[in-house]
Amino acid sequence: MLYRQSAVPLDGWIALTIAALIVFCIANASPIATLSIQGNTVQASLPGALWLTWQQGNWILAIMTGLVGFWLPLSQLLFLLWGLWSIRAGRLSADFELGMRLFHRFAPWSMVPVLMLGLLVAIVKFSGFAHLEPEFGLWGFAVLTVLLTILSRFSAHRLWRYAEDALLVPMSGGLVNLEQSIASCDACAYVQNAPLSEPSASCQRCGERVRFRKADSTSRVWALLLAASIVYIPANILPVMQLRTATGVSMHTIVGGVIELWNMGSWDLAIIVFLASVVVPMTKLLVLAALQINHRWRGPVIQRQRTRLYEAVEFIGQWSMLDVFVVLLMTALANFPGISEIVAGPGAASFGMVVVLTMLAALSYDPRQGWDQDPALRP
Ligand SMILES: [Zn+2]
Repeated sequence: MLYRQSAVPLDGWIALTIAALIVFCIANASPIATLSIQGNTVQASLPGALWLTWQQGNWILAIMTGLVGFWLPLSQLLFLLWGLWSIRAGRLSADFELGMRLFHRFAPWSMVPVLMLGLLVAIVKFSGFAHLEPEFGLWGFAVLTVLLTILSRFSAHRLWRYAEDALLVPMSGGLVNLEQSIASCDACAYVQNAPLSEPSASCQRCGERVRFRKADSTSRVWALLLAASIVYIPANILPVMQLRTATGVSMHTIVGGVIELWNMGSWDLAIIVFLASVVVPMTKLLVLAALQINHRWRGPVIQRQRTRLYEAVEFIGQWSMLDVFVVLLMTALANFPGISEIVAGPGAASFGMVVVLTMLAALSYDPRQGWDQDPALRP
């Protein structure tokens, strides 16, 4: 299926977006949980957790989690509301194209559902040795996760389609000359004539670069996969977390955290964390490498399976960020200087880099490469 228009009217989407923005503010302004140890209590909110991580000197971790857990989801919602509002008002501002291009670029990097799962894992981890009270912010994030999952169906392409229906922008494919080569814009899905001889041209509607195939896909994917495999080693060897108590300091690695959860009896969460932190990154590295090595034409059925495999890898990518969020939240909650303190270790930032690098590799891969091998399509 190429496209299905939404049954929800424009006003419905605007209402949902405004609701999500309000819930976003509530979830971030309220504390997520209260932790008490020996009569001391600490309340943590997401902005507080980010600020604390920054102050502790874990800048990479703070920037990374701040972007994917706070700033990009917020920008997504603001861009979406602005786009919907402009279409409804029947007047697009001159920045509409740029705004929609950014909206399209940010989409894969907004990770509130992953953050929500991270919150649950962090809470279960604490339940073993401290008294933890969930607060209002936790419910805020639960509702926000549902709203953002519904809104994630609203891509930049869909916004452009609504603008087309309102006769505010040129209709896709309307001016195409079928005698010449045709390309579709990645950002706005505008089908247009583009010269085959040039490596890239500007989209006639939104100004994004229109390419027949992603630029230097093969070498980019290999470079990013290689970088990710290198960073993968410190991510697993170095501790992602240090627990400092009066009796001493203990280090925790990713796999160590999974074993700990298992021993605590939460085998379900242990499996989830194991899948997200160990299986998903490994699968991504191996699948992308396999797709790169083996794209010989074996018929449309095999090629469709390969495309599905790629889409699955792209979809599961962001879930490996789970453990990084868990570390961030545990740092903020167990902040009792002198009694018991959790500090993020160097492994956490490395692990976040692996996630970012493999996501970039998946985004650089062009699934059309494989279809190009079809002998029937060769000129
Ligand atoms: Zn375009």
